[in-house]
Amino acid sequence: MKTVIFDLDGTIFLGKTAIPGAREKIEELRSNGVRTLFLTNAGTRTRKGVKEKLAKMGFEINEPEIYTGAYSLARYLAGNHPGKKAYVVGETGLVEELENAGIKIAREDSDIVAASLDRRFTYKKLAMAQRLLLHGAVLVATNYDYTFPVEGGVRPGAGSIVAAIEAASGKKAISIGKPGTYGFELMQRERGIKREETMFVGDRIDTDIAFARNCGIRCALVLTGVSKNKDIKKIKPDYVFDSIADFTLP
Ligand SMILES: [Mg+2]
Repeated sequence: MKTVIFDLDGTIFLGKTAIPGAREKIEELRSNGVRTLFLTNAGTRTRKGVKEKLAKMGFEINEPEIYTGAYSLARYLAGNHPGKKAYVVGETGLVEELENAGIKIAREDSDIVAASLDRRFTYKKLAMAQRLLLHGAVLVATNYDYTFPVEGGVRPGAGSIVAAIEAASGKKAISIGKPGTYGFELMQRERGIKREETMFVGDRIDTDIAFARNCGIRCALVLTGVSKNKDIKKIKPDYVFDSIADFTLP
């Protein structure tokens, strides 16, 4: 194994707190010559924003090692819809990543509706997205997570907003995030990683472990986030660790 890809929330941190031992584990892997990369479905921050958030928790991780839903969606649109205009139902991090990739942000005459978590989502935005989609725009989304965990419960995630837009327009979104394989394909192209030398570590069976299975890479579940031992049913990880602190390479 030459590369380990880690999920972020629930795997190396929880909310605003680093998982104990996560930083040391990442440093240990690196000092043993293992490359570490990070893949999150989150679509509200830029790579730079995630780097800064991680730095506050004591992680030294560089932007090119961070793959977010926002960055992946921007690369997807730059590759598949170059020169097109996008209407964004999302937050400033997504707008910034799309602009970084040369996507023009527009309203009335957009060819694309780019959707993600938007904590200022309104009926007006839903109506605009609906109108564009009924006039032939393409619907793309950072991810399909209906909820995301917070201390003491869950909140509506990007998937809940995407579902509303799908219902209003009758169109199905192309989702870029896990369990889809686009993020891995992007890493293969940009970072030169190889399937047989890569391992994925995450906390959710329905996104992370399913993602690794879809990509054909080995994977480990950590029990510090969403999924627990009792949730392991049809989709099975190769390894289970209580925490990233206990993670070892096979
Ligand atoms: Mg997670």
